Amino acid sequence: MENKYIPVIGLEIHVELACKSKMFCSCSSDHFAKKPNTQVCPTCLGLPGALPYANKEAILDTVKLGLSFNCEINKFSKFDRKHYSYPDLPKGYQISQYDLPLCKNGIWESKSGKKIRIRRIHLEEDTAKLVHQTLDGKKVSLVDFNRAGVPLLEMVTEPDFSDPDMVEEFLKENQLIVRYLEISSADMEKGSMRLEANISLKKEKDDDLPNYKVELKNINSFKFLKKGIIAEIKRQEKLLEKKEKIIQETRGFRESLGKTVSQRTKEEAQDYRYFPEPDIPPLIFKKEEIRKIKENLCELPRQKAKRFVEKLQIPENYAEILVSDLKRSEYFEKTAELLKDKSISIKLIADMIINKNLDKKFEDPYILIKKIIELSKKEYASGKDVQNAVLKVIGSNKKAVEDFNQGKGRVIGFLIGQVQKELKGKGKIKTVKEEILKAVQTK
Ligand code: ADP
Ligand code: ZN
Ligand code: MG
Repeated sequence: MENKYIPVIGLEIHVELACKSKMFCSCSSDHFAKKPNTQVCPTCLGLPGALPYANKEAILDTVKLGLSFNCEINKFSKFDRKHYSYPDLPKGYQISQYDLPLCKNGIWESKSGKKIRIRRIHLEEDTAKLVHQTLDGKKVSLVDFNRAGVPLLEMVTEPDFSDPDMVEEFLKENQLIVRYLEISSADMEKGSMRLEANISLKKEKDDDLPNYKVELKNINSFKFLKKGIIAEIKRQEKLLEKKEKIIQETRGFRESLGKTVSQRTKEEAQDYRYFPEPDIPPLIFKKEEIRKIKENLCELPRQKAKRFVEKLQIPENYAEILVSDLKRSEYFEKTAELLKDKSISIKLIADMIINKNLDKKFEDPYILIKKIIELSKKEYASGKDVQNAVLKVIGSNKKAVEDFNQGKGRVIGFLIGQVQKELKGKGKIKTVKEEILKAVQTK
């Protein structure tokens, strides 16, 4: 099919922050696999009269992520109440941020150089968890409030993506940055990172955005999201080709069908009756404070990869693989550090880690180096073998030896090559050369 339509894709990403306590109370935020309703208090249960107070760590984490995506940090931001009614929301509203989020106007650049605008990053609280099960033969929905009030960060991009592969590239780097900053495990299986994609199609010549968007929700892996986006684009293309209207709705991806399916139609925007949270003072940041946070930001994956290439002289693709896992990149660096005065190349170490997973086998980088030295020694031919090969080559290349003795120094390269052929490449060049020189001079 000719490329008539261009996909328009914008993302919403939720990240549950790994702070010790919840967003607005001191309950533990580590809720995963805990006994239901054991980590609750009047505040996160939304009982009347309980007062919320904001978690400083969560605020700093959000600012750090914002700075990593080149966002402006609002000098003045605030929390707002977002109202809706659902059993997982104890207060009947969620404390979130509306018109003044912590971070805005960020930029992310893909490897190919395309710029994606980050609209905002704000903080809110997670909801409780509904558990649907059968109890005494009755279908029931139980509520576990351990998750209620856990700090939740939301990032919203502008609809600047058109390529599902780039969506994946963005999300992978996003997850990696979150992990480098150590603000969340960003585990999708545990729900610490949740993705939503908004998708529509436009004609190439259209300047305006389409007047609809389909929200793809409840996605728990990058692979799934990519497949879902591709399936949704196909579905919309077919509808547009038949001149049918696309309904604005929420859809989920069914992998068994290879299709997206409708989950909820949302014809018009819901009215959340936002208003400022009166119990929490606004957040004020001074320029100087933001500068300090920025200065103390850890080295991010791209910077690290660049440093590996420039300072350690390993190939770009190696650097990229190494930094895509924080632990691995640290392991590699330790090994490289230990290696400084040894004769093994750093590239070989990188190779052993990437292609042979030796970092998994040897927990201690020091042991890995010892192993590599042993391995590389074993691979060289013995002194005796080298001597024999040299004698053989000299015996059968009389002309070359003569040329060499008459001052044609370059012939040595040819002789080394011949010896290496004999040794099937296992001779150590330095030794081979020494042996040849010795043998030639005694002739
Ligand atoms: P809403 O007001 O319904 O929440 P927003 O304009 O705030 O919609 O955008 C929410 C998300 O949808 C953002 O990630 C944005 O990039 C994306 N989006 C907005 N318009 C479109 C569109 N026409 N097609 C695809 N995604 C869109
Ligand atoms: Zn609590
Ligand atoms: Mg939200």
